[in-house]
Amino acid sequence: MDITAKTLHGLADGLAKKEFSASEVVKAYIAKVDKDDANIKAFLKLDREKALSAAAAADERRAQGKELSPYDGLPVGIKDCIVTQGETCSCASKLLEPVVSPYDSTAVARLKAQGIIPFGRLNMDEFAMGSSCENSAFQKTANPRDLSRVPGGSSGGSAACVAADFAPAALGSDTGGSIRQPAGFCGIVGLKPTYGRVSRYGLVAFASSLDQIGPMTNDVEDAGIILDMICGKDKMDSTSLPVAAGGFAEAARNGKDLKGIKVGLPKEYFTGSGLTPEVERVMEEAKAKVKALGGELVEVSLPHTKYAVAVYYIIATAEASANLARFDGMRYGARKEGRDLVETYFKTRGEGFGAEVRRRILLGTYVLSSGYYDAYYLRAQKVRTLIRRDFEEAYKQCDVMLTPVTPAPAFKFGEKSDPLQMYLSDIFTIALNLSGNCGISIPGGVCKETGMPVGIQLLAPALEEAKLLAYANAMQR
Ligand code: GLN
Repeated sequence: MDITAKTLHGLADGLAKKEFSASEVVKAYIAKVDKDDANIKAFLKLDREKALSAAAAADERRAQGKELSPYDGLPVGIKDCIVTQGETCSCASKLLEPVVSPYDSTAVARLKAQGIIPFGRLNMDEFAMGSSCENSAFQKTANPRDLSRVPGGSSGGSAACVAADFAPAALGSDTGGSIRQPAGFCGIVGLKPTYGRVSRYGLVAFASSLDQIGPMTNDVEDAGIILDMICGKDKMDSTSLPVAAGGFAEAARNGKDLKGIKVGLPKEYFTGSGLTPEVERVMEEAKAKVKALGGELVEVSLPHTKYAVAVYYIIATAEASANLARFDGMRYGARKEGRDLVETYFKTRGEGFGAEVRRRILLGTYVLSSGYYDAYYLRAQKVRTLIRRDFEEAYKQCDVMLTPVTPAPAFKFGEKSDPLQMYLSDIFTIALNLSGNCGISIPGGVCKETGMPVGIQLLAPALEEAKLLAYANAMQR
């Protein structure tokens, strides 16, 4: 039996039936990493001894009937911008390479409370800025489905980790599509929860009004399982929402059809949106599936989302320029000494940050500078409100929306050398972050010629994850 091909719920069943122990599970995943990660390069770090001793402790608890949850002792990969106590947290940046976190992020602490083992540090685009993992300062992660192609980004290491069966699940973060786009590229499930559903405490901030942590898994039920563990109010993050939460795994499991459900198709995301023929075909198949499951297709409109990429690259860069100001090499990180303080700042930040991060800091500083603030930043905030209203209007006519994840499947390394071309990878994912709502990417099909996966995206109103997961599960079945 191949343990590493299982889901979290499949592994939990096996643990309950004593088909295998948590130690055997973790050993199997480590063996898989040792065999394949030299080519895939999903992990920046993996402390094998620590994972094995955590698994042994879980087995001990289970033997005494004191397991922390049915998932006690299962490994979950962690994106390198979500801190785990005692482990490095570089955000794939040279500037933070030496940093070891003195504390757990709330998401990781909540996983640990259920007995989950935080499994290594996964590669990403530096500070989560990118769509291909090519912006990592350390290594380029390959797409497990085709090693000449990118896994997507910025949570490319997390997507590759799950797709390569290095762990049954991983945590990613999504600011403009960084969970959903790599999930689509690698043929797995990726959920961006509603803004405020999951605490951002211990997530290194990129754009604070957009960032959310979420699960990347093999199936929809597993996404619900992880969300159940990590969701909920946290006093350490004032933007986390004080709403009753949980029951997401059960909601996912119960989703069997779409009877009576109105599925909106935002017209701007289909005709004339530059879909490749293969993505178009998969979308047609998805529409047929909706109807076969008893759902009704309705055309809706998101007129202002045509500005989403432009608005995002003003708001996200503005917030990033402020958030990244703290990385000056004084209290932590890699300091490059200069002759005086100012030169030390220049050298530390000039050499520590990669080209894309510097580009974003420059852009963000520019749009916030006096004289340009009103013309760019303030204006972008107004358009963000219009985009949010577009979603509110659309949800008056439908329960969920169905869209592509990306215009095309995973591209080859080096194929998108122009930053603007790269930014356009996210045209169908970015508006969701600006609206604050939730969305999920699930496998939709594969390209006939290349065999590369194509994802489909379901979107739902704020705090409707239970419905979203139920419908996604119905589609996936
Ligand atoms: N690809 C987008 C960017 O480069 C989104 C990244 C993200 O969601 N973290 O900013």
